[in-house]
Amino acid sequence: LSATIGLTCLDQIDGNGNDALKAANIALKHGKQHHRGEICHFTRDMEFETLARVRLLQNLRSAFDRERLFVVYQPQVSLVSRQLIGVEALLRWRNDDGSYVSPCDFIPLAERSGLIISLGEWVLRSACHDLKKIINSNGKPLRMAVNVSVMQFRQPNYLDTLDRALAESGIDPRLLELEITESVAVLESSFMIKLLNEIKSRGVCIAIDDFGTGFSSLSYLEQLNVDRLKIDISFVRQMEQSDGSRRIVETIIQLGKSLQLKLIAEGIEQASQANL
Ligand code: MG
Ligand code: MG
Repeated sequence: LSATIGLTCLDQIDGNGNDALKAANIALKHGKQHHRGEICHFTRDMEFETLARVRLLQNLRSAFDRERLFVVYQPQVSLVSRQLIGVEALLRWRNDDGSYVSPCDFIPLAERSGLIISLGEWVLRSACHDLKKIINSNGKPLRMAVNVSVMQFRQPNYLDTLDRALAESGIDPRLLELEITESVAVLESSFMIKLLNEIKSRGVCIAIDDFGTGFSSLSYLEQLNVDRLKIDISFVRQMEQSDGSRRIVETIIQLGKSLQLKLIAEGIEQASQANL
């Protein structure tokens, strides 16, 4: 057994015993997240942080209910033909005043609170539905990539959700690609192998998102039978300036080739990056 302890000094508290307990609890939560097995002292900053998070989460829930969230589609282009070969569905949030909340802020929050389960399902259904519309209007097949969180995979009915999205939209499952991150490594591997096999048996492809930034378990790559690696944007952005990043990109390409995986470089915006 180990213990994490949240402490507060009573002279820091303006209110009553309840407020002192609340403060100690905030310190405890903070400790559990950042300093497990240690004693964590309450600070005002922790309180502001917690309040800001609670407020953002409330706003996110209400934005979702009031349909202030929407999906945009980022193109994926073949470096050989320079043709559009696919798109990735990305969730965006616009405030009433027109400003945007960054997904870097609200996605982790949605994951921690569990809201990502309904958000993720909604994105999947919207993406499949929109893909059907796009294909109908230009008559050509296009691949749709959709991000999936570990939290969603943990849901016992995830496959039903997937099947429903496919059936409702009527798209060819081979046009759908699910992007998972290396964080799925926290799930038991036998569970993941079974789940991914089920997904792949439907024709749906699997890509590893943000590759190179997580705790890469290479044995996992083989076991999970994935189709594609997505080279993380941080390496792509840096590769022209940094020798290290360029070599990492080269290494991932080599790795992908030898495992016979397809590759995507994330976030190419300049011709020079595309050429490299
Ligand atoms: Mg992605
Ligand atoms: Mg990515």
